[in-house]
Amino acid sequence: MTENNREKIDILSLSLSELEEKIQQLGEKKFRALQIWQWLHIKKVRNFDKMSNLSAQFRGKLSDVFCIKSLIISKRLASNIDNTVKYLYELPDGNHIETVLMKYKYGYSLCVSTQVGCKMGCRFCASTIAGYKRDLTPSEILLQIYETERDSEIKVSSIVLMGIGEPLDNFENVIKFLEILSNKDGNNMSLRHVSLSTCGIVPRIYDLADKNYGITLSVSLHATDDKKRSEIMPVNDKYNVNELIEACKYYLNKTKRRISFEYALIDGINDSIEQAKQLKILLRGMQSHVNIIPVNKIKERKFSSSRESAVRFQKMLTELGVNATVRRTLGTDIDAACGQLRREYEI
Ligand code: SAH
Repeated sequence: MTENNREKIDILSLSLSELEEKIQQLGEKKFRALQIWQWLHIKKVRNFDKMSNLSAQFRGKLSDVFCIKSLIISKRLASNIDNTVKYLYELPDGNHIETVLMKYKYGYSLCVSTQVGCKMGCRFCASTIAGYKRDLTPSEILLQIYETERDSEIKVSSIVLMGIGEPLDNFENVIKFLEILSNKDGNNMSLRHVSLSTCGIVPRIYDLADKNYGITLSVSLHATDDKKRSEIMPVNDKYNVNELIEACKYYLNKTKRRISFEYALIDGINDSIEQAKQLKILLRGMQSHVNIIPVNKIKERKFSSSRESAVRFQKMLTELGVNATVRRTLGTDIDAACGQLRREYEI
């Protein structure tokens, strides 16, 4: 960020009603805010001078008061195996985050980060090793979409909040981002095409359920009993498995959206038949789906797993009547799992 921008208002982090208020405070008519909004979120211009239906004088006033933030592409890695592209973005303050563009049968999905680093301390996760630096602003979450669409010339059809960070630990900014993203007069993305992945911050799951956005909730479960789960996920000491499942049931009842449970398979830790049986008991009566992910090796940890063990565990679950699939691993040649690139870069 330039010195100049430091005191200016980050216009891409404002909701439409906040923008209307600010524009009226500048002595302008309310409808001008909608015009600006459309330039920002439909045309996605990066400069007030491009807003050709506003007078030059008003544009000048806008650039005195507001700034339009942008992200810099520090690195772009395209997979040779599939169509996955991983971006390392530099934020206005020099920090880095990762965004991953993935191609599926039905379109393109973008995995976005919500924090610089993470506080949650999951033992198998690269994002948490360097610790937490700060929350992303609504505009920094949104810009991962806008900048990636601009660079790739692709329209993203679904968003997963599954990159670096814990989205429910940055709740207010994530909510603001979702409201900007889905605003009918702007970018207009249906929130039914958004998934949010959480390690299980229970009170915020209730809050999100009460918003009733229609977002798919993905819960990083990874283990079925408190002892095992606490060993690999410290958040479990605060919100245990039963509390988490209760919150998921509340989410399901409120939103009628099937919950997706992430299960990173780690050899010798969570891959036994006993755990498959516990999973069946835990999810009994719930509309849910288990996504098995062979744990991605990160160089700081010894955990390992393979596609074969994941398929074996899936078979156990299927035979028990639990709805489960093995997640397709994309971009393995470009370390597409979250946190790995930023980690390489910041050493
Ligand atoms: N904080 C959120 C979202 C970011 S992590 C969460 O915990 O859900 C996105 C997903 O990747 C989570 O399910 C996380 O547990 C998983 N993950 C992290 N490191 C991994 C690794 N090395 N191998 C496989 N999955 C991993």
